[in-house]
Amino acid sequence: MNGNREKLRNIRIVLVHPTHPGNIGAVARAMKTMCLEALCLIEPAEYLGAEARARAAGADDILLRAQRYESLLEVLRDCRLVIGTSARARGIAWPSLAPALCAQRLLAEAGCGPVALVFGREKMGLTNAELDLCQYVVGIPANPDYASLNLAGAVQVLGYELLRASDTQDVAPEWREGHVPLARNDDLQRFYSHLQEVLVETGFLDPAKPRRLMRRLYRLFNRAYLDENEVNILRGILTAVQQRLR
Ligand code: SAH
Repeated sequence: MNGNREKLRNIRIVLVHPTHPGNIGAVARAMKTMCLEALCLIEPAEYLGAEARARAAGADDILLRAQRYESLLEVLRDCRLVIGTSARARGIAWPSLAPALCAQRLLAEAGCGPVALVFGREKMGLTNAELDLCQYVVGIPANPDYASLNLAGAVQVLGYELLRASDTQDVAPEWREGHVPLARNDDLQRFYSHLQEVLVETGFLDPAKPRRLMRRLYRLFNRAYLDENEVNILRGILTAVQQRLR
């Protein structure tokens, strides 16, 4: 369990624009019960005041050590696996994972460095552009007519899965210790920009309407869990294409 405790520390619980101080406190409490420590907040409501502390109920240390960020890109920069959360089905099917598998994968990759589980706003969840930054989306099975859990409730359920996974050895073979680390999120984003540049230069992509094609390509490559070596190969191919074109 000790090695796995270390890994739990590498799992960032990211809250995008949480608007209720009480919810942030309740998230800290949920995290502490599940041995999670790294709370990352993007444009949060006041989280060190009386309301948040009351709901944290003794988990104030998590609130005090929480890191604030300006943008989601910034917190994900050095993460090698990023999983978003969503209560609802989206237009184009997003690659999705069940909670138990989500937990196993996060834990396996947390052995190589930080990973992130991203939660959305209380009112409107995560935007599609924010989900584009995630390799997968996890949904907690719930009443189809009322599937939206309270933010802290969702952190509690997925935190429980993480703690449970940390007690077992159920890891897919390709995710065992010693695998090549997945690419960092900032390297993936650089690859996507480079890909878009080449698609425009070759005339395959109309720069006036890049969105849908790029979103499909993000999903294709996100599904592949590209590792460091694979991203380097793909960048090399793009550079070779550009050299020929110029
Ligand atoms: N009305 C929003 C739901 C926001 S609930 C929407 O339609 O998306 C706030 C956050 O809690 C969500 O963004 C998500 O991070 C988490 N959450 C709530 N219910 C969930 C569920 N069933 N599965 C996964 N995450 C959930």
